[in-house]
Amino acid sequence: MKYPVLPFVARPDDPFEAAWVDALRRAMPAETIEPIGRLDEAALQACEVAIVANPRPEDLRRMPRLKWVQSVWAGVERMVADLRDTDLKIVRLVDPQLSDTMAEAVLAWTLYLHRDMPKYASQQRQRQWKPLEYVRPQDKTVSLLGLGALGAAAAARLRANAFRVQGWSRTLRTLPGVTCYAGDDGLARMLADTDILVCLLPLTEQTRGLLNDVTFSQLGRPACLINFGRGAIVDDEALRRVLEGGGLRHAVLDVFATEPLPMDSWHWTHPAVTVLPHVSAPTDQATASAIVAANVAAFRRIGAIPPHVDRIRGY
Ligand code: NAP
Repeated sequence: MKYPVLPFVARPDDPFEAAWVDALRRAMPAETIEPIGRLDEAALQACEVAIVANPRPEDLRRMPRLKWVQSVWAGVERMVADLRDTDLKIVRLVDPQLSDTMAEAVLAWTLYLHRDMPKYASQQRQRQWKPLEYVRPQDKTVSLLGLGALGAAAAARLRANAFRVQGWSRTLRTLPGVTCYAGDDGLARMLADTDILVCLLPLTEQTRGLLNDVTFSQLGRPACLINFGRGAIVDDEALRRVLEGGGLRHAVLDVFATEPLPMDSWHWTHPAVTVLPHVSAPTDQATASAIVAANVAAFRRIGAIPPHVDRIRGY
């Protein structure tokens, strides 16, 4: 049976469009996959499912029969906001490879902070020979904001490296060896006992600005922050205040409210900030395409739409 064309919808200037289309075609040889720009009106009218990478909403609106879209990214907050007035189902990427890559990044940057690398780098610049006190990972608490696909994988990796691990989510989770919290009280209790705080939350109305003067003041001792979730979860001015006041010793930031980070942003030169260009967990095109292929095949076979974003929850 010949299915309607499966469009790939990215921004017109997306440099990865051709590579994505190639990877998706390899994973789905029975499908006809084309960039949306190559489709005529008749083809657009027939599309029921599209594969998307940060699409322009107006491109999706050109396909009136569209039932669901499969994103090749894990974070879909922009699409959720852009398509608020539609009932289009948004399926985000859930890929064990992505979780694994993120867990590796969380471990790498946790170790960077745990072994005082920012401090030793600064001491070297000043030709200062000064050993700092060593604290075992068993005596350090890493607190995760978000215990979903990425947070749970990060928790397991940190546990395997002997850190004390706790985590916070909207609903109370149970994870082996992890002290779990939920709710505002739970967050305050977790922050009170934190050495390294790792953000792996989605950006929603509830999480926007969650890390602010109030929550930073709940940290029980000087701590470090790793933000791998979304930039707007952190109130940037509150972050600057808590770094300058000593409540936070260092921040590793991979995500920012505006990306690329503007040239005149204070983060670039702040001695207690490490800037990363949104690289903590890049999507692997081959593994992601295989997951997309399985989702599309189930839809073609039995009309099943994979688990999708809950528009009320926002993720
Ligand atoms: P997920 O599986 O949907 O998990 C989200 C977690 O956040 C869940 O534990 C959820 O709680 C929790 N949460 C959501 N809203 C909350 C709230 N208001 N209060 C407390 N907890 C809340 O998502 P994921 O796959 O782990 O991905 C998380 C985010 O990582 C993505 O949305 C994306 O923004 C970001 N990301 C970044 C990169 C990068 O390269 N920097 C790469 C991929 C993804 P429940 O468990 O109760 O549902």
